[in-house]
Amino acid sequence: MEDCIFCKIIKREIPANIVYEDNEIIAFKDIQPAAPIHILVIPKKHIPSLVELTKEDEVIVGKIYTIINKIAEEQGVKEKGYRVIVNCGKDGGQEVGHLHFHLLAGKPLGEKIV
Ligand code: AMP
Ligand code: ZN
Repeated sequence: MEDCIFCKIIKREIPANIVYEDNEIIAFKDIQPAAPIHILVIPKKHIPSLVELTKEDEVIVGKIYTIINKIAEEQGVKEKGYRVIVNCGKDGGQEVGHLHFHLLAGKPLGEKIV
């Protein structure tokens, strides 16, 4: 089966503005930013969505949050704060079928749903 768009970014088959990478995680700027800072943080493992998460993925999800914090610090927004969003499935508005965490920051993020 053909790789998804984010797997192609991981394999450098399509370009992205990468801000962090290690052996398990990669983070890059969202192509259509919804805030001054809008970074997608993803596991390199192709996990289609949050509902597909397995017991063995628990560690990587924890690590992703630590990396998000590190990126927020590097981007200079740790003090002011940020928002992390994971869209899941049709009702959640997920468009790309590879688990990703939106890191949004750089302005007051406005109305909250919750
Ligand atoms: P979601 O709606 O939660 O699935 O979010 C998918 C996100 O991926 C959207 O914010 C898109 O702007 C972003 N996106 C799609 N293609 C790319 C790409 N090639 N590089 C960076 N971000 C992308
Ligand atoms: Zn993928």
